[in-house]
Amino acid sequence: MIVAIDGPAGAGKSTVARRLAERLGFRYLDTGAMYRAVTWLAMQRSFDLSDGEKLGRLATDNPVEFDDAGRVSIAGYDVTASIREARIDRQVPVVAAHPAVRQVMRERQRELGEHGDVVIEGRDIGTVVAPNAEVKVYLNADAATRARRREAERPDIAGDALVTDLRRRDERDAPRLQPADDAEQIDTTVLEVDDVVSRIEDLVQQRLAASRP
Ligand code: C5P
Repeated sequence: MIVAIDGPAGAGKSTVARRLAERLGFRYLDTGAMYRAVTWLAMQRSFDLSDGEKLGRLATDNPVEFDDAGRVSIAGYDVTASIREARIDRQVPVVAAHPAVRQVMRERQRELGEHGDVVIEGRDIGTVVAPNAEVKVYLNADAATRARRREAERPDIAGDALVTDLRRRDERDAPRLQPADDAEQIDTTVLEVDDVVSRIEDLVQQRLAASRP
C-alpha cells in the first residue's frame, strides 16, 4: 500500500509521515530530502541553478540514497544535516522547478516506493508520482503556524526572515502544490501530531478493510 502525504512547508508532513510509518510498520520516503540533496550537490559544485538540463544530468548521475537509519547521501557524501540549512531551503524550489530534474526524481521515487508498504511525503505524490496511492492526504496549516513550526527547526534564523523565506518558497512551489481531487484534506493548525496520525491511520485501516474479500 502507498500512503501519499502532500502539503506545503511547515504543515507537519515530516513529523506526521515518520510517526505514521512507525506505527504502521511501513517504510518512509522523504521526497523533499531528495530535491534537497541534489540542490546541495549542485551548490557544492557551483552549478548554475538556472540550467535545468545540466541539473537533470547531475540528478541522473548521482542517485540519492537512504540508509535504514534514514540517513541521506549523494555522490558519496552524507548530507543528512547539511540539506536542512537555510541556504538549501532557499534554493531547492529553484532546482525543483526544472522539468528535467523532476523527471529524474519522480522515476527514482517510483523505484524507491515500489517494494511493499510505504508512506511517501512530498508535494506531488498523490497527483503525479503515485496517482494510484491507496490513501492520499493533503496537510495544511495557517501561515503563522507554519512559520512558528519552522522557527523551532531553524533556531539560527530570525523570525521575520523565516516568514519571508516561507512565503517565497510557497510562491515558488505553488505550481506543484495542488491537492489531488481524491485527497483527504486535513488542517493541522490546531491539531496535535498524534491526532493527525490517528486520522490517517483510520483511513489506512478503512482502506485495508475495504480491500479484504
Ligand atoms: O518537504 P521539504 O520542505 O523538505 O521540500 C523541500 C523542497 O523540495 C520544496 O520546497 C519543493 O521545492 C521541493 N519538493 C518538490 N516536490 C516534492 C518534494 C519537495 O518540488 N515531491
